[in-house]
Amino acid sequence: MGNHHIPHPKGNPGKLIVLTGPSGVGKGTLVQMLLKKYPEIYLSISATTRKPREGEVAGQSYYFVDRPEFDRMVALGQLLEWAEFTGNCYGTPRLPVEERIARGDWVVLEIELEGARQVRQTFPEAYRLFILPPSIDELESRIRGRGTESEEAILKRLDRAKAEIDSANEFDVQIINDDLDAAFGRLEVALFAKTAALSGAAG
Ligand code: ADP
Ligand code: 5GP
Repeated sequence: MGNHHIPHPKGNPGKLIVLTGPSGVGKGTLVQMLLKKYPEIYLSISATTRKPREGEVAGQSYYFVDRPEFDRMVALGQLLEWAEFTGNCYGTPRLPVEERIARGDWVVLEIELEGARQVRQTFPEAYRLFILPPSIDELESRIRGRGTESEEAILKRLDRAKAEIDSANEFDVQIINDDLDAAFGRLEVALFAKTAALSGAAG
């Protein structure tokens, strides 16, 4: 992985990478580390009916839409997958993902469990990873420490987290986000080991 260059031989098909895990586990943090180190990876920008958090930028963090607009995207088949999560809708715009994969790029979806299950049906070749917390207590303190949700939303997310964690073994790889740098290292190994072995070089 020396020069941080993803092996990208001509004709190599793109790759769809799905990152799932309970709210607050550190998915967003790990994805941002990945994009910083490998800027050629494309992170899909989701549509959501959730209200923007402080500091979130429309069109970068999410496409913030109202419910009728979201329903319209669903009806027109514009979403690759979508799900309701603790009272709001979230979905992946199909076109940018399909275009990037066709070009041979690596595309990352950072989505919750129900959406990841849909992707398994529609994109069986997707590589699906599940990020686990070291414990529920640690998960709770991370969600609280982030300071972005109301008490009600925190409790809903923790409730949902328990159910999601029970499904971790549906995924190709499980990564425990205990120490952040160690977890990032495991993520890199999971993403690059196979490709590096095939190309006979470390990238
Ligand atoms: P998610 O995207 O899964 O909801 P975030 O990436 O927003 O989670 O992380 C939730 C909070 O936990 C953030 O405040 C983040 O800085 C913190 N965090 C992430 N990874 C770790 C870690 N390994 N150890 C301690 N705190 C972490
Ligand atoms: P948040 O409100 O914390 O940004 O996101 C809540 C949950 O929705 C997270 O687990 C996040 O991964 C997930 N999510 C974000 N975008 C999408 C999407 O496009 N589809 C699905 N299914 N889940 C998403």
